[in-house]
Amino acid sequence: MSLATTRSEALFTRLDGLMPAACTRTTTHYAPFPIAIASGAGARIEDVDGNAYIDVLNNYTALVHGHAHPTIVAAIERRARAGWSFPSPTTDQAELATRIRARFPSIERLRFTNSGTEAVMVAVRVARAFTGRSTIVKAIGGYHGGWEQVAAGAGEDVPGGEAPPEPGIPAAVRDLVVQVPYDDEAALAAVMAEHGDDVAAILLEPLLGHVVEPASAAYLAAAQRIAHAHGALLLLDEVISARLHEGGAQALHGLRPDLTTLGKIIGGGLPVGAFGGREDVMAVLDPRRTGGVEHHGTFNGNGITMAAGCASLDLLPQAEIDRIDALGARLASGLERGLADAGLPGRISRLGSIMHVHVAGEDRSPLFWASLAEGLYMAPRGQVSISTAMDEGIVDEAAAAFGRAAKVIAGGAR
Ligand code: PLP
Repeated sequence: MSLATTRSEALFTRLDGLMPAACTRTTTHYAPFPIAIASGAGARIEDVDGNAYIDVLNNYTALVHGHAHPTIVAAIERRARAGWSFPSPTTDQAELATRIRARFPSIERLRFTNSGTEAVMVAVRVARAFTGRSTIVKAIGGYHGGWEQVAAGAGEDVPGGEAPPEPGIPAAVRDLVVQVPYDDEAALAAVMAEHGDDVAAILLEPLLGHVVEPASAAYLAAAQRIAHAHGALLLLDEVISARLHEGGAQALHGLRPDLTTLGKIIGGGLPVGAFGGREDVMAVLDPRRTGGVEHHGTFNGNGITMAAGCASLDLLPQAEIDRIDALGARLASGLERGLADAGLPGRISRLGSIMHVHVAGEDRSPLFWASLAEGLYMAPRGQVSISTAMDEGIVDEAAAAFGRAAKVIAGGAR
């Protein structure tokens, strides 16, 4: 099956004259040019050439309810009609904050931002202000957004390996971050024994999100113990993992982090981030106290995001999480079968409703393009996630499309 791409290519050419590589987000570029999406409804999307796909990427896990969920659309419309951007406290902020605190007992106080990146930036600043220390310990391969201080070592093309320094990140900035192998308690303990007195926070994801490789619960608990033994905080980045349980991965693992960062699903698909945690730690943000941390942002807590976020969380009770986790298991075994039937070496890693297709060799691009040609839209690097818009029928359709793509690749047909 071939894919019509004339209009995608024309849009790429037009945008290439306006933006470097025609993209406004590094992740969305792939060779020779990305297909341009025109619309989405539920679990399906259509590109500008009229090709239809099952969307198993869901904007890198953010769209837990798929596209244009009617309840989220109604919430956005309701807020839009009454205005949505006020430099003041709003009821919508209280509504979303209440929902988040009810789901995450460790989050005694929180603040909103416009992205997960910003949430990490301010949470790190809060940790530094609270502890009076500068160093952050993070995992090699851990991704925490685009901020230069945590970007080091998160290279998408070097899963499990330490990325070379990115240009534009001064050595002085890199020196503020110590990187450790992920899910390795002994390595973390050793680094903390050496640097612990300077460490403000250990910053960890509950899983390496960009390759969907989970850490053990024992490691995460040890990370908190080790942090506290050295007077540092545990900052758990749940921007991706919040969808794994009503109370995020911390509920799954019985953890109570000092600080947590959130994003993606808490905004119903609109730009969002949040961070929060211990009341005494978050108190450094209180402007009634002198010498506190300033936290700015014209659009923090904007009404449309707050309204969409409330709708998104209301649509995601534990029963719905259990349902999409089961769909995740079903899709993962379908993808595994697809690889096996085609004789393509690889494996699927999965946690709940998110998974990753690992194939042998450096170049994932042929399998990605073959999947597109079969009507399946996944991440070029192999990430896949389930949305609540899916059911067993769509999951089986997606697995069948992947199986056909794997056979094309195994046959060397592309
Ligand atoms: N932290 C984690 C674990 C993420 O996966 C991401 C984004 O994928 C971020 C932070 C950054 O969030 P955003 O893209 O909203 O800035």
